[in-house]
Amino acid sequence: MCLINFIKWLKYSVCAYLVSYVMGYAENGINGIRRYIFKAHKNDFAVAVAKYTVKTLSVGKFYLLGEINSSQVENTMTTAHSYMNEHYGVRDISSNVNYAAIPKWFGSFASPVTIFIETYSLGSIKNMNGIIHEFIHLGWNVPAESGETQRIRFFDEAFTSYFEMRVMEYLLKDYNPVNVDVYKNQLNRYDGNVPIIDFGKHGYGDLSYTIGAICLYKLSEFVGIDVFEKATRTFLEKYKDTPVNMEIFCNEYIKLCDKPELEQFFKDWIYTTNGPKSLLESYKCE
Ligand SMILES: [Zn+2]
Repeated sequence: MCLINFIKWLKYSVCAYLVSYVMGYAENGINGIRRYIFKAHKNDFAVAVAKYTVKTLSVGKFYLLGEINSSQVENTMTTAHSYMNEHYGVRDISSNVNYAAIPKWFGSFASPVTIFIETYSLGSIKNMNGIIHEFIHLGWNVPAESGETQRIRFFDEAFTSYFEMRVMEYLLKDYNPVNVDVYKNQLNRYDGNVPIIDFGKHGYGDLSYTIGAICLYKLSEFVGIDVFEKATRTFLEKYKDTPVNMEIFCNEYIKLCDKPELEQFFKDWIYTTNGPKSLLESYKCE
């Protein structure tokens, strides 16, 4: 790494580190310009980050950096909200949610009161999957049992990434939800023989964003999208306050979809890697 890159890396790392410890906003007026600073909960420690344009939209308050098309942001977010309500159950997302744009490379993340999102994610509908992903987390997840099950990341990240695929498909007609190249690249970083059920044990939770989401995508194709959506609405509602595990998930979907053949499907996709492997094979043949 050359010196300049090292300094850049150091700068971004330090900023990202500071930003990740801040949870709120303070406001002051300087020369009539409203400035917002990040403010920590503890020790009243504040880090000034940027001048923001503030837009209060129906789905939350947006702190935007630079030239962002706020009507596009509003249309996309409200469309995502209606789509999720209609297909996966109505959720009353608070309009108090804050979305703060942060520079590229900081990485998007959510604090208890604010979703921090990289600026480029607000620049075009195509790039808005990141903010839509965080938005979906606010309302359409069930809790996972703590420990190994939680570390699989299936009930937060596989579900959210699946919903994100469906919303993006709806927003962009030429969107390709099962991006096999991304999937293959990710698989190459891991041992392809670890099934979803063992992701927690092996620290492979990151694979739930792709393999977990594709598993749900294939499940929805297998049972039919309407049946899948109805089952998912019931599942999300029934377990909204009760932690679940993979066994509960499989049994519930077999019952809710009224499809005993799902037992084999789950064997292939959750308990072994037959499903992911045959998916890759089928793309090789094309
Ligand atoms: Zn997520």
